[in-house]
Amino acid sequence: MNRRLVFWIPVALRLLLLLVGAGIVWYFFGPIVALAAIVGAMLVMLATQLHYLFQLSDWLDNPSSAKLPDGWGAWTDIFSRLYKLRRDDEKNQAELTEWLARFRQAMSLLPDGVAIMDDVLFLEWCNPAAERHLGLDLERDKGMRVTNLVRTPAFIDYIVLGRYEQPLTLSLRERKLIVQIIPFESRRQILVTHDATEAERVEMMRRDFIANASHELRTPLTVINGFLEIAFNQPNLELQTRMSHLKLMIEQGQRMQNLVEDMLTLTRLESVEYPLRPERVDIRALMEQIQREAMALSAGRHHVSLEVDGPDIKGSTDELRSAFGNLASNAVRYTPEQGSIALAWRMKEDGPEFVVKDTGIGIRPEHISRLTERFYRVDKSRSRETQGTGLGLAIVKHVLLRHDATLSIDSEPDKGSTFTVKFPSKSVYAE
Ligand code: ADP
Repeated sequence: MNRRLVFWIPVALRLLLLLVGAGIVWYFFGPIVALAAIVGAMLVMLATQLHYLFQLSDWLDNPSSAKLPDGWGAWTDIFSRLYKLRRDDEKNQAELTEWLARFRQAMSLLPDGVAIMDDVLFLEWCNPAAERHLGLDLERDKGMRVTNLVRTPAFIDYIVLGRYEQPLTLSLRERKLIVQIIPFESRRQILVTHDATEAERVEMMRRDFIANASHELRTPLTVINGFLEIAFNQPNLELQTRMSHLKLMIEQGQRMQNLVEDMLTLTRLESVEYPLRPERVDIRALMEQIQREAMALSAGRHHVSLEVDGPDIKGSTDELRSAFGNLASNAVRYTPEQGSIALAWRMKEDGPEFVVKDTGIGIRPEHISRLTERFYRVDKSRSRETQGTGLGLAIVKHVLLRHDATLSIDSEPDKGSTFTVKFPSKSVYAE
């Protein structure tokens, strides 16, 4: 029914009732009493209206705590509509608060920084990543001008020039940041920051790796090309000279092959497409093979001993052969003649371990933490003389990572080195 009708019908009925009542009083008691009754009834109605108006005024002062009365007459409808409005409002507010909390949580989990500024660059809000990236503190810096908070000249130029279509790469607080400003709502701007330090580091490693690998391949190639030119230009060289050239060429060819094979092994170990497929590793057979290969490389120049006193483990036999083989061959290559190399597999309290101990040239402490970097060598010429690629310990590191194992190096110059590989107890193979 029409709201106005709902309002007016009770009013009209009440007036009609009043008039009928006044008519009856007039009939029995005369006009004076009837007039007095009408005035009295009007006063009661006025008092009722005033009472409800006061209640409404109280409620408007404090809508959330004061309770609305049920009301009388038209007030019943007004109060119930107000009550519904308040309930809807409370519901909307609760939804809004919940949504805001969700939005804040999502923003705080975001790895990228987001800061909202007004048109004159005063900070209104920012997420924790923006605080970290730009060194801000929302509580402290809210309402401050962002150019006063981030004072790097490149950042200030970027803002002054206003070329926001392009992001800006910024070095800030020892990190590489990609920063971009996005205007929105005509009077606000969003500042987005992305930490590119790790990506930059990976990119630099990749560039270094390519540069190093090219350099490593260029040397043997130059040697081979040089001898090929000599052979081409001087066809009548003595047989002995020719044979010595061929021998050097074979050595350099072998060096290139070792390098390419090690690079391929490293690439495969790093690739997610080659996950580790653990199998039972027959430790005794593996250790004996490592010892045989070390003895073959030593060609009788060293004493190579072996001790096996531990269980089989779960892992990749091929990868472990490559890692252990690298450690054993390093021991042979960096130990002078008559030195000794001790290979051991033992079960310790916290898990099995593989130990290679040599009485070789040793390593100075400042080199130890860098040995597993690609192409890092303490003595380049010695490494090359012994057909080293500079990638052996990088391969060891990656194989061990895939087996949850760790490498520790203990060494003393001119005394010898001990390389220890520790496996977790969970890697022991249970029958
Ligand atoms: P390389 O092919 O040059 O041997 P690695 O990655 O296997 O490369 O080893 C890196 C460097 O660590 C070597 O160049 C060498 O200087 C040092 N190194 C490794 N093992 C030993 C060892 N047992 N004794 C002394 N130095 C070692």
